[in-house]
Amino acid sequence: MSVHVVIAGGGFAGLEAVLALRALAPRVRITLVTNTGVMLERPTTVAEPFDRAVAPSHDVDAFARDQRIEVAFDRVVAVDADDHAVELAGGRRLDYDRLVIATGAQTVAALPDALQFRGPRDVETMRAVLGDLRSGAARSVAFVLPAAATWSLPLYELALMTGAELRADGVEGVAVTLVTPEPAPLAIFGDAAPAALRPVLDARGVTVVTGVGAARVQDGRLVLDDGRTVAADRVVALAAIVGRPPIGLPSDGAGFVPVDDHGRVAGLTDVFAAGDVTDGPVKQGGLATQQADAVAEAIAGELGLVASPRPYRPVIRGLLLVGGAPVYLRADLREGETAAELLPGASAASSSALWWPPAKVAGRYLAPYLATARPSVLGESELADRPAPPARSSAAAAAPDHDEAVALALELAEADARIGDYDAAVRALDAARSVAGGLTPEYERKRDRWLQSR
Ligand SMILES: Cc1cc2nc3c(=O)[nH]c(=O)nc-3n(C[C@H](O)[C@H](O)[C@H](O)COP(=O)(O)OP(=O)(O)OC[C@H]3O[C@@H](n4cnc5c(N)ncnc54)[C@H](O)[C@@H]3O)c2cc1C
Repeated sequence: MSVHVVIAGGGFAGLEAVLALRALAPRVRITLVTNTGVMLERPTTVAEPFDRAVAPSHDVDAFARDQRIEVAFDRVVAVDADDHAVELAGGRRLDYDRLVIATGAQTVAALPDALQFRGPRDVETMRAVLGDLRSGAARSVAFVLPAAATWSLPLYELALMTGAELRADGVEGVAVTLVTPEPAPLAIFGDAAPAALRPVLDARGVTVVTGVGAARVQDGRLVLDDGRTVAADRVVALAAIVGRPPIGLPSDGAGFVPVDDHGRVAGLTDVFAAGDVTDGPVKQGGLATQQADAVAEAIAGELGLVASPRPYRPVIRGLLLVGGAPVYLRADLREGETAAELLPGASAASSSALWWPPAKVAGRYLAPYLATARPSVLGESELADRPAPPARSSAAAAAPDHDEAVALALELAEADARIGDYDAAVRALDAARSVAGGLTPEYERKRDRWLQSR
């Protein structure tokens, strides 16, 4: 009988674990337990308030059919590691040979009286903030990274796209400030990031205050931890996150599950975890998929299918949407002096794609799968890094690779439309739009037509 792997959670880590296992251990039986039928690419929701992209969503049933796995639309509520079984909210008990926990984290409001941006449910709130700034109902906005939130890139995207939008609309005199405890803008990406970001921030009129947290919102101002204040008719904050893993798993003080370099859960046999649910110091979709790859290799190694399973060695990749051509950032991460610290090593920033396909969440298997929507053909390739081109004067300058990415996405869209797959065609157009920062009127018209033909 084949080995049964149960994967809890159908987000980036869970789906990458499925794809990696299918590639490394094709005969294992896989059951995905997920409480949602749709996998939404949450990172792209930052562009929705600005009408620059629609976050793609993927049908879990179709993914399951394609990958020949079983799905239980349910929640794992408890793990009985001694018995190799999980309990589901619906009352079912599911036996496993190996278990992968990829249930993500939960958001909590970190700054009272600020508007939280957590993803899809806050798109309209952000749209309203933009409306107030456009109409003059608000003259200043502060974007805040609460100390506890570890992934800051979406905050920069919101601030930069706000600045870009106001400039494009000819709205003057609005103060856009970003407040962050980071020592430098996007410091996790190393030395290359501030140099690449400076011209982009300047061009959009965004002021960044680094090295300080925000204490409270008071009388139209944001009060900082060191007593300074910043004009803020509106305050938008990222939420902090906490872990809420199923019962029966060990967790640290914040609810995150401790794992080793292969994703093995401390103190348990045959139980692995990957993604935001784990106790790693940086919670990010790309890193979640890299952890899932390490877990899949470890499982394949135990089954004798991989000779030397590779441990998790994080490389952070960030595709920053700025309201124009995006900026690509990449850094190898290394252990800091304390266990709870990761520091940037070699780093690169460019307006050319630094990995291919140029996905926002750069999973080795998942990025090609989601980008192409052609699992049986192009989806078999793996994400690959590309060398950083020589430094340019402006990271936002047009680049041949960037044009190539847009041209490829448009070509794929046309090909999909020709065979009548309008869903895939619209997805490819949306990919082109997020890379290019917009579509030509001709393609906007085609998109409308294809939407109606679905
Ligand atoms: C606004 C925003 C922008 C971001 N931008 C980026 C970006 O540009 N790049 C990047 O790499 N990362 C980005 N991130 C971070 C990224 O979204 C997360 O790091 C990533 O989603 C973590 O993946 P995961 O699979 O661990 O968890 P999740 O994506 O949260 O998936 C967990 C899944 O498990 C399900 N689940 C939960 N509990 C259970 C249970 N008990 N049983 C079964 N299923 C369960 C959930 O419903 C969910 O589907 C962003 C995050 C936000 C909020």
